[in-house]
Amino acid sequence: MLRSLHMKLVLIMVLLVVSLMTIAGAFLVNSVNRFFLNDFYAQMSEVFGEPAFVRDLTTPKEGETDGVQALDQVLQAYVGELGVDGRNRDYYILDGKTGSYLAGSDDKNGPYLEMTPNLLCAMNQGEEGNRSDMTAAYLDLAIPIQRGGQDYIIYILDQRATVQELNSQIFQLIIEALFFGLVISVLLSFLLSRAMVTPIGALTRGAKRVAEGDFDHRIQVSSHDEIGVLTGAFNDMAGQLQTTIQEVENERTKLSTLFLHMTDGVVAFNRSGEVIHSNPAAEEMLNMPIPVGGAVGYDDLFGEIASLDTVLNLEGDCLDSETVRGDRILLLLLVPFDREKQAGVLAVIHDVTQQVKNETMRKEFVANVSHELRTPITNIRSYAETLAENPDLPPDMMASFLGVILNESDRMTHIVRDLLALSRFDSGHSEMNLTEFPFGEVLRDSYQAVLLEAQRHGHVLKLMGDGDLPAVRADRERVLQVIMNILSNAIKYTPDGGRILMMAGRTQDRVWLEVEDNGIGIPKEDRERIFERFYRVDKARSRESGGTGLGLSIAQEIIQRHEGVLTLVDREGPGTTVRMELKIGGPQL
Ligand code: ADP
Repeated sequence: MLRSLHMKLVLIMVLLVVSLMTIAGAFLVNSVNRFFLNDFYAQMSEVFGEPAFVRDLTTPKEGETDGVQALDQVLQAYVGELGVDGRNRDYYILDGKTGSYLAGSDDKNGPYLEMTPNLLCAMNQGEEGNRSDMTAAYLDLAIPIQRGGQDYIIYILDQRATVQELNSQIFQLIIEALFFGLVISVLLSFLLSRAMVTPIGALTRGAKRVAEGDFDHRIQVSSHDEIGVLTGAFNDMAGQLQTTIQEVENERTKLSTLFLHMTDGVVAFNRSGEVIHSNPAAEEMLNMPIPVGGAVGYDDLFGEIASLDTVLNLEGDCLDSETVRGDRILLLLLVPFDREKQAGVLAVIHDVTQQVKNETMRKEFVANVSHELRTPITNIRSYAETLAENPDLPPDMMASFLGVILNESDRMTHIVRDLLALSRFDSGHSEMNLTEFPFGEVLRDSYQAVLLEAQRHGHVLKLMGDGDLPAVRADRERVLQVIMNILSNAIKYTPDGGRILMMAGRTQDRVWLEVEDNGIGIPKEDRERIFERFYRVDKARSRESGGTGLGLSIAQEIIQRHEGVLTLVDREGPGTTVRMELKIGGPQL
């Protein structure tokens, strides 16, 4: 850059100096030539305009025999005025008809004179030949005269030696000036290029640093010329660039944070189907790593739903489809972005597993509720109809029918009560009345409450480990309700003469209770669903024993509200063990 700019400047200066010198030289030479030309003819016309001289030339002396000699004498008398020096300028007396040499100041060259246009003009037309151009090698003048009836031509020839000498001096001068001019121009161009290149160099270094990403760098503005203005503009541009890049960076960070924490999965593909972006949610939903630019591409992930070309050329906004991946149900939106350029495709993945599950559960729940309520209503109606149609039924039969009606309406009341309780939990309207009470006390109360019923069925009911239990913070009534539910299930689902154990204990921050029976047990496949609403292992049996299938769901809700745990203990052998855990300090409400 420096070299090239320097060379350019040198070249410009050299060309400038050379052309200036050439023009000046040409003007000078031209002027000198013209001056000499004009001076020569002016001098000649002055001398030949003198009447005395003309008379001397044209009038023969008395008794003159040799006209040529007489002319020669006249001309010799005038050599001073004519500037004839016998070296550069000579006079010649020529024959007016043939132009042959008769006499003159230069005998040596006289006989060999060249027939110049001026000479020919004087010879042929008898007129004064006094024209010459500046480029000719000589200056001449041919004047035809008559003397004593004889025609002569007075011919003055100047070899222009003075002019040529002067020209060569001018030429030499110009060459010298050119030499000095070139030296000065090289020096000047060097200084000039330094003056220009230094700030340009600073600008270039600054531009490089900015190009490398150092947007804080500012170049010092050291002059107010165009380069100074350019430097200022560059600094402004770098500042502007810094702000813009910062804004873009902020926007990018915002977007990637958003992507990172989005619950929806997002995968972006370029037009060739390579992954250009993916977030953790997408990897989790599709259950595979999706590295950017990795081996996994569009076709591997969504090829079976729609080809990349189809999505890129989509007419509508997006293509949506539901797909099942593993145990998840995913709603997939495929959107082409930057449509005109067909830049790529964005896949937005929404996990609708829970939604679909909830919807199914809601439908099942509604079906269950209607079924559960329809059975007692049908029973009540048919017994009531029988009673209404047969007023004469025996009193004991009537009493038994009425008993069924009362039982069924009790069942309905239970169901409705349990449903209301659940709905209150669902809507969050169920207030918790948290108090501190000894856990062992609730165990003993529930033990006492079911003891009679257990004995009625011939069960052995035992309470163990209740002695050394701390006080807990919980809703006493509800905890009691849960324990009673577990105990009454144990009594219900254990054939008479069974054994029911209540075992309690504590860990560092929890108390626990396990109710173990040796009853009919719960088959493995039903264990997971036992806490679902209306779920019962053996519907007929459960209904027979007055169960609604809602007891454990409610119990589960209550314990969860206490941030505790209610589970079935996985164990070998017949019977069932239900475990309940509660935080000693109570829930963090
Ligand atoms: P239900 O009112 O029908 O007893 P629950 O919600 O209390 O409803 O219990 C759900 C189902 O779980 C019961 O129908 C029964 O099939 C099963 N179950 C609960 N506890 C026991 C147990 N101790 N032994 C065997 N089966 C049980």
